[in-house]
Amino acid sequence: MPVSMIYPEFEIIRKEDRCIHCRLCERQCANEVHRFDKEHGRMLADEAKCVDCHRCVALCPTRALKIVKSDHTFRPNANWGEETIHDIYRQADSGGVLLAAMGTPKPYPVYWDKILVNASQVTNPPIDPLREPMETRTFLGKKPHQVHRGPDGRLKNELSPGLSLDTPILFSAMSYGSISLNAHKALAKAAEKLGICYNTGEGGLHEDLYQYGSNTIVQVASGRFGVHKQYLNTGAAIEIKMGQGAKPGIGGHLPGAKIAGDISKTRMIPQGADSISPAPHHDIYSIEDLRQLVYSLKEATGYQKPILVKVAAVHNIAAIASGIARSGADIIAIDGFRGGTGAAPARIRDNIGIPIELALAAVDQRLREEGIRGDVSIVAGGSIRESSDVVKAIALGADAVYIGTAALLALGCHLCRSCHAGKCNWGIATQQPDLVKRLDPEEGAGRLVNLVTAWTREIKEMMGGMGINSVEALRGNRMMLRGIGLSDRELSILGIKHAGE
Ligand code: SF4
Ligand code: SF4
Repeated sequence: MPVSMIYPEFEIIRKEDRCIHCRLCERQCANEVHRFDKEHGRMLADEAKCVDCHRCVALCPTRALKIVKSDHTFRPNANWGEETIHDIYRQADSGGVLLAAMGTPKPYPVYWDKILVNASQVTNPPIDPLREPMETRTFLGKKPHQVHRGPDGRLKNELSPGLSLDTPILFSAMSYGSISLNAHKALAKAAEKLGICYNTGEGGLHEDLYQYGSNTIVQVASGRFGVHKQYLNTGAAIEIKMGQGAKPGIGGHLPGAKIAGDISKTRMIPQGADSISPAPHHDIYSIEDLRQLVYSLKEATGYQKPILVKVAAVHNIAAIASGIARSGADIIAIDGFRGGTGAAPARIRDNIGIPIELALAAVDQRLREEGIRGDVSIVAGGSIRESSDVVKAIALGADAVYIGTAALLALGCHLCRSCHAGKCNWGIATQQPDLVKRLDPEEGAGRLVNLVTAWTREIKEMMGGMGINSVEALRGNRMMLRGIGLSDRELSILGIKHAGE
């Protein structure tokens, strides 16, 4: 059955009385949906190519366009949904694995929405964040078990290298190649202005961005693309990527067509060669092997950089995190299964892993029980959508959070989930020069700064309401959380009481 038998998912509604035939939509759509029909003097649309990215809608000068979900339907069937039927048609047609981008759209529970935050009332009064200092500065890395002071009162502890953040938010790993250089520039500039860090992802670091090194986490993934001594020493911290929430247990693949020019140079692989990250690190099959890599990286950087180990949230995450904490790593980054990606097999993205909320609570609890919580910091990621998610994550035990999709949305992403096609009309998930230049790094950085500044204000307000004046005092403070509509088992894993208790 030809794919064309699939009815388009979206319909383009063009108000003919408003359309002035300026053909801007035709020029703006990299998917070549719109075209001008000279014979009849009107615009036409090939709706089958539309991914609902809103570019044409947003830029149409007369607001003549809108995209609607088609209500063309199969006979209703609770077991065989429309998407399932279409996927079978597609696979019968191509014989291939279905690819998808961004986080899973499946309706799994979002535990953030089933957790409520406390506020002070009569005793332990709230704090007004506009009048009183609120501390959002966060230090990531090993904490000493005991504080030792000399006779002069000075601290005698030798502190391990760590990361200092002005607010407990980091931009999560997105590689140059999966996103454009302008998107990376925007993230780097914003991280510098905000006093936080962005993350190179596994594609190496473009030489134009070395100047932002002190706000950069450089990643070492299984493919080791773009990894060399200068790269490692430029970053403020090094992240070993063992897994990713959107695709646990599998590697990555950037097609050779995208490995050109600066991307090939930055990744240190030949032009046109597929950039394949293997599923495992071929030198890591145990915690002892991981420890060797952690210490190799420390050695290569003179023991001056904290090492993060990033893992996907999977079933036995608490035991895995305990091993990582004992490997010598300074920070564990846990990526929940709702996290985004540039490209992943759809079945993996939608069915593998566990929610970050449960993983985070389980890890924090396990490390506390084992008396090693202070040996590592925890960064939680994988669908942190708003400032209240940050507050809940910290109260569940995170030291800081990674944000990826929220950062891309701030840059203009419209969540069309077509990043893997490489034709992002907003200049983010693309390497096409005409599309990349649509994203102005300065403007993008400004929007990212606004977003994180707004979230930080909201975090301060929520902390003030709880009568808490520092992120440090919120961390792991589960008494500040209550569950709503959760089972006893879920509450027990989250380590929180039900609302009303
Ligand atoms: S793909 Fe985007 S720009 Fe093209 S028609 Fe659809 S919404 Fe408009
Ligand atoms: S980054 Fe671009 S292609 Fe990817 S979801 Fe956002 S708008 Fe779509």
